[in-house]
Amino acid sequence: MQYTIDEGQFRTLAAEIKQLKQDNKALIVAHFYQRPEIQDVADFVGDSLQLSQLAAKTDAEIIVFCGVHFMAESAAILSPEKLVLLPEEHAGCPMANMVDAESLRQRKAQLSGCQVVCYVNSSAAVKAESDICCTSSNAVQVVKSLLPGEILFVPDQNLGSYVEEKVGRNMYFWPGYCNTHDHLTRENILNVRRQHPNAEVIVHPECRKEVRQEADFIGSTAGLINYVQKSSVQEFIVGTESGILHQLHKVCCSKEFYLASEQLVCPNMKSTTLSKVRDALKNLTPHILVEKETRLRAKKALERMLACS
Ligand code: SF4
Repeated sequence: MQYTIDEGQFRTLAAEIKQLKQDNKALIVAHFYQRPEIQDVADFVGDSLQLSQLAAKTDAEIIVFCGVHFMAESAAILSPEKLVLLPEEHAGCPMANMVDAESLRQRKAQLSGCQVVCYVNSSAAVKAESDICCTSSNAVQVVKSLLPGEILFVPDQNLGSYVEEKVGRNMYFWPGYCNTHDHLTRENILNVRRQHPNAEVIVHPECRKEVRQEADFIGSTAGLINYVQKSSVQEFIVGTESGILHQLHKVCCSKEFYLASEQLVCPNMKSTTLSKVRDALKNLTPHILVEKETRLRAKKALERMLACS
């Protein structure tokens, strides 16, 4: 995929970032949905689960998190002794913002005794109110690990319904969704499939059920990349955020990828730029902090998830 800046600008900024990174002993991590040039300066590119695990293990003192706010918060929860920087401080996640701690407490009071499974795309305060977290990679595994009894899944109802189908256990859902994935329709898939009849359809579980039903494979971003690498198929219609195309082209340069809709672009993920990464390393800000009591409660939910991944 093309960079969103020219080659000269990329080389200058990448060199500055490399030097600042060495001076600060920092680690740059980026989500698969970041701009291509951000992915190319990162030490590690991954999905939410991989990035949480890395944040828990790395001995770097500074983590520059190229993603959205809840991801940097997860790193700060798991590694409170490290300085976690989010280059674009307003990079939020609209789905994460669809649930807050107070509304979740009220719902828990209505469903007394239910176990709360919280998608990692949520604030630290919501994680603190939850029994266990999950990512799109391990959500099925996490729900299977729970004791009998009622389950409330927050905040993504699309991922929740996908897990419900896989596990065969009824759950209550929070009415949240990802603006980017929920936009994709069955009609979009059928249109692209008409143009590329030999292509397989691969989608993220944050997509609606009508879209998932058209898919040959459903998986997290890392799951989709693994699937494509192992497959003998040459063409794929991709139903997730456009940033994944950069990694797909890198790992499978001889295969063809068609985005299922031009709308599959998350403006929040794209709000981080190379100059913001450079500035974050220069000024050691914006710094993500999670207040201690919330952090300790949220950490339990994240650690329970990591233990069963
Ligand atoms: S792609 Fe969706 S879930 Fe991910 S940050 Fe953007 S809005 Fe949130």
